[in-house]
Amino acid sequence: MKKKIAIIGSGIAGLTLANFLYKKKELDFMVYEKNESLPLDEGYGIQLSTNSIKILNQINFNKINSEKIYHPKGVDIYNIQNEKICDLDLVKLNFNDNKYTTLQRSTLIEFLKDDIYTQHIRFGKRIKEVSELKGKVLIKFDDNTNDLVNFVIGADGIFSNTRSFFEKKKNKPIFKNAIAVRRILKSTSDLNIDQSKISLMMGKNCHLVIYPINKRKELNFVCIVRHNKYDPDNIKTLIQKVVKQNSNLEKIFEGDLTSWPLFTTPKIFPSTNNKVFYIGDAFNGFLPTLAQGAGQSIESAYELFNLIKDERGDIQNIYFQERSKRAKIVRRRSNFNFFVFHLSSKFMQMIRNFFMKFLIKRKSFINSYLGTVYKN
Ligand SMILES: Cc1cc2nc3c(=O)[nH]c(=O)nc-3n(C[C@H](O)[C@H](O)[C@H](O)COP(=O)(O)OP(=O)(O)OC[C@H]3O[C@@H](n4cnc5c(N)ncnc54)[C@H](O)[C@@H]3O)c2cc1C
Repeated sequence: MKKKIAIIGSGIAGLTLANFLYKKKELDFMVYEKNESLPLDEGYGIQLSTNSIKILNQINFNKINSEKIYHPKGVDIYNIQNEKICDLDLVKLNFNDNKYTTLQRSTLIEFLKDDIYTQHIRFGKRIKEVSELKGKVLIKFDDNTNDLVNFVIGADGIFSNTRSFFEKKKNKPIFKNAIAVRRILKSTSDLNIDQSKISLMMGKNCHLVIYPINKRKELNFVCIVRHNKYDPDNIKTLIQKVVKQNSNLEKIFEGDLTSWPLFTTPKIFPSTNNKVFYIGDAFNGFLPTLAQGAGQSIESAYELFNLIKDERGDIQNIYFQERSKRAKIVRRRSNFNFFVFHLSSKFMQMIRNFFMKFLIKRKSFINSYLGTVYKN
């Protein structure tokens, strides 16, 4: 009989795993999502470096409508006054068909849902109870349906509810005293930036990132501001912290803004049940300062798929060892960038800029700092 897998959550991690399982055919699976639909009208952008594109291309991401994605050639780095410090060539980190890609998250979700939507996703499902039965896991949902499965995959994001059913040890996400503000832009005429690249502007206790997300020249704008309290009805205070450093930035905040408090998971814990695995943010949530959240969700789904498919013994141990090694590298770099992007002292900023200019041209540095993450 085919082994059965329940994937809890239909974000990037859950849907990526579902696509690989669909391709394999020898395993039975179902994605259980708490919401009633997939968020296909959501505007915000994501960056995917070559490590995740290489995996997605195995499920035909290279055939996606090219109008809906963008391949930025580099990153221009500025101070908050829009004065250029240095730039990074991203093309050098591409290889063959695997190119650094930017797109709307909804474009990726739309792509990932295509093959599995009708047969393999069930909406409005939340776990109510779990138990062991005949060496399998019996999941009861709050709409009184149930499923008996060989493996449960928690892909339900940083606040994973799946963890609370299987793990005694709490790993409560911590608020990083920082908030992200986002919107989609049609133009950035008040700023002197190259709209075909990723622009990073570093200010005191804040940074801004702008990049194209499709060939229609729409741009994703995200600003991360350090602030110790999150009040979605009062993001004006945050905006003022940025705009007072450069008044030309005022216009960029005009329009429909969305905000999020930034959380990370403090520790990386293995699953205590050998039939239960965590992928994506449910495994470990990162700060967005290396733009690797989605990429690591894709990587973790792919790693787990390969272990399950190959029926490797001791899957749990191998998965955790490999995944935690990778997550620690990304976490260290994301945390370091978060610190470096937000320096408040002018003197420290000068030193940072000097080192950035120097290091960004050093192939060995780029290969070890980014190359290990974008590993080909
Ligand atoms: C400001 C910001 C900018 C970012 N920018 C980037 C970027 O440029 N590049 C990048 O790679 N990443 C970026 N990320 C991170 C990235 O978006 C996430 O890391 C990634 O989407 C995580 O995917 P996931 O599938 O693990 O979880 P999620 O996307 O959180 O999906 C979880 C799914 O599970 C469902 N769910 C939750 N609870 C339950 C439940 N109890 N039962 C059933 N279903 C449930 C949810 O509804 C959702 O569909 C950014 C994040 C932030 C906050």
